[in-house]
Amino acid sequence: MSAPLESVVIGAGQAGLSASFHLGRRGIDHVVLDAGDAPGGAWQHRWDSLTMADVHGVASLPDSETPGAPGRANSVVPAYFGAYERDHRLPVIRPVRVDRVEPTEDDLLVVRAGSRAWRTRTIVNATGTWSQPYVPFYPGAATFAGEQLHTRGYPGPEPFRGRRVVVVGGGASAVQLLGELAMVVDEPERDLIWVTRREPVWRTDRFDQEAGTAAVALVEERVRRGLPPASVVSVTGLMLRPQEEAARRLGVYDRRLPMFASIEPSGVRWADGTLREADVILWATGFRPAVAHLAPLRLRSEHGGIQLDRHGTTAVADPRVQLVGYGPSASTIGANRAGRFAARGVASWLDANSDSSDSRSGRPVGSTISPLRT
Ligand code: FAD
Repeated sequence: MSAPLESVVIGAGQAGLSASFHLGRRGIDHVVLDAGDAPGGAWQHRWDSLTMADVHGVASLPDSETPGAPGRANSVVPAYFGAYERDHRLPVIRPVRVDRVEPTEDDLLVVRAGSRAWRTRTIVNATGTWSQPYVPFYPGAATFAGEQLHTRGYPGPEPFRGRRVVVVGGGASAVQLLGELAMVVDEPERDLIWVTRREPVWRTDRFDQEAGTAAVALVEERVRRGLPPASVVSVTGLMLRPQEEAARRLGVYDRRLPMFASIEPSGVRWADGTLREADVILWATGFRPAVAHLAPLRLRSEHGGIQLDRHGTTAVADPRVQLVGYGPSASTIGANRAGRFAARGVASWLDANSDSSDSRSGRPVGSTISPLRT
């Protein structure tokens, strides 16, 4: 067990790296614990067919430039993150999967990972959502004789050639995967079915910065009230990109069906008795925040989410905890911004809760911090 740190960042994706950069700028003594074997956060696990031309834009980490290089997102972004960690000498330790964060009687937090533990005064949680794919329950799912997979395990379109596929989900991933699958199934009208629980909301106007800010504000409002965060796309609406044009012409996006009622060995069945046979069910049903390791801190509000303060990163139930990449900051732009706010939140808490004999950082109470570039 090491001496207490001023902060521990959990997760080294966009949010964790941004937080570490800003903590470092403020002279805050910290480590970054990351479960991955290599740099890149969730980007290293994205499917091979996702290129830099397909992503909506990866924001530049603080004090750097996103590589303009084309290529697969799962190699370009991890290489960028790896270089960033090295160039900025970020104190990343991996692979370390945090199991639990516990409060101690002497007002510290203990971050546990197997037999290892770090004592710290604050944490910045930046664990993303990739490790928590969400698949809703439907009766009979276990009896399906074909293949079921979640977006997380999508191998690209090729393995679906000539197969009958049901795509479930109303988000951006479903739209993107339908666009790819339409090109490999034999007859899209017969072999590719799109099913959603709710009517998708299509965006007809341009998605500019103002619209983005308004969408993020809606998710922020939910989190401020302690509700579980909605996905940002649920408030931005869906758009077809040039890559999806061929699928649109094939009518893929017009043939959406309401949710089926059950799953059978040969396919999916609706409440009115209709059966559609299928070889594959592809669940593009999103992810949930990976926060189970924070359970001992009892951060959840009565509404089921973790309530964050008006600055959007500090947990109301325990201000030693910052959450970044959570809810409104679950995008690369949001994660960058949240990293900066989280470092400010950590600094405020340390300043407000230090006694003048605290010499760990050599930073006396109420001291000014090094100026930040924003
Ligand atoms: P992640 O990148 O998931 O990083 C989390 C890190 O935490 C990982 O390294 C993981 O190993 C680690 N971790 C998890 N649990 C633990 C644990 N218990 N202990 C230790 N470490 C742990 N956003 C955009 O802005 N533009 C886009 O084009 C875009 N495209 C996307 C495409 C897809 C398919 C998906 C799923 C998301 C996309 N997003 C996009 C969202 C964006 O990728 C994320 O919101 C953003 O990268 C924030 O990352 P993060 O740091 O919060 O999480």
